[in-house]
Amino acid sequence: MADNHKTESLGFGTRAIHAGQHPDPSTGAIMTPIYQTSTYVQESPGKNKGYGYARGKNPTRVALENCIAALEGGKHGVCFSSGMGSMDAVIKLLKPGDEVVTGDDLYGGSYRMFTKIYEPYGIKFHFVNMTNPENVKNAVNKNTKLIWAETPTNPTMQIIDIAAMSQIAKANNILLAVDNTFASPYLQNPLKLGADIVMHSVTKYLGGHSDVVMGALVMNDDQLHEKIYFILNSCGANPGPMDSWLVLRGLKTLHLRMERHCYNGKKVAEFLKAHPKVDKIYWPGFTDHPNHEVAKKQMKDFGGMISFTTKNATLESTFKLASSFNVFSLAESLGGVESLINHPATMTHASIPKAEREKVGVVDQLLRLSVGVEDIEDLIEDLRQALG
Ligand SMILES: *Cc1c(COP(=O)(O)O)cnc(C)c1O
Repeated sequence: MADNHKTESLGFGTRAIHAGQHPDPSTGAIMTPIYQTSTYVQESPGKNKGYGYARGKNPTRVALENCIAALEGGKHGVCFSSGMGSMDAVIKLLKPGDEVVTGDDLYGGSYRMFTKIYEPYGIKFHFVNMTNPENVKNAVNKNTKLIWAETPTNPTMQIIDIAAMSQIAKANNILLAVDNTFASPYLQNPLKLGADIVMHSVTKYLGGHSDVVMGALVMNDDQLHEKIYFILNSCGANPGPMDSWLVLRGLKTLHLRMERHCYNGKKVAEFLKAHPKVDKIYWPGFTDHPNHEVAKKQMKDFGGMISFTTKNATLESTFKLASSFNVFSLAESLGGVESLINHPATMTHASIPKAEREKVGVVDQLLRLSVGVEDIEDLIEDLRQALG
């Protein structure tokens, strides 16, 4: 099942388990072996079996790349040593003088890379509220080469209309890349909505078990793939075979995990909404979420990521609340089987200046939950006791 076009007709779960993988031809081993090798023996100079040196290609990684591509309904997958490594490869498509239009609520590390690494190289970034496509249209000019959208956004769960972004990109002949980390390919497939590149922090839902750091890009266009692969091979942010194997293993249950993340997420969101101490709550499944209709249109379900604030909270009381959980663990990251609680202002989003983050609601009182796949009764009880 290496050919993604042949797997297109299969259901998501079947693709998650089989796409890109075949029994090992030498032994019949059903699981893709971990090809822990840096090089490949050649029959004569330049004559090899498609593998020359392992920075460029590794069979375990190729199986994973084909599997992730099949899950996004895309032609090409390329894996990187981290989500940031994959984003870095996209920005390396640009030159000094080029401009990027992106969101005002981004993963903190994305904001840091754009402003601290690439602005000094002469690439200009416009941070706008992308929930209104007019803002994006107005920020595009003749130097714009890329629209970078993240949806749902981290941590305030804005929903960006991917099809509307694609219309703007196509009308101006520029690329649209979508960070699909929060949704996972189970909930949302940006290529089908007109995006040119899908990016994942594989570290999160795709790996799913908080034991790997990895990134991935998926695209349909052959030339774009060639350029991205050239950057990977030239710059070297390639993941290892052991990690590739761990993610192949994690992907086999992605559909099952996502169903439970969504079920638990809905229960937790409803519990928080009804709780007298909870003030604001950010979850796209609520009909009064400002972008609920867009979420309903482009996502299969609403996911397990929820942010909230409590009434009359201070930084101290928020710290105390964040440390009073038994089942939720206080940690950065998300998308694993275990539930996590995070304080964006001092943890995941500490690299964004206070004034910038507070403009979009990332206040000192904000907490973010990654609702895991534990028993829902235990999660609710943990929230009840911590808030009490
Ligand atoms: C974690 C994350 C990243 C960065 O990925 P790493 O694997 O940590 O490098 C990028 N975007 C989003 C939305 C993330 O959550």
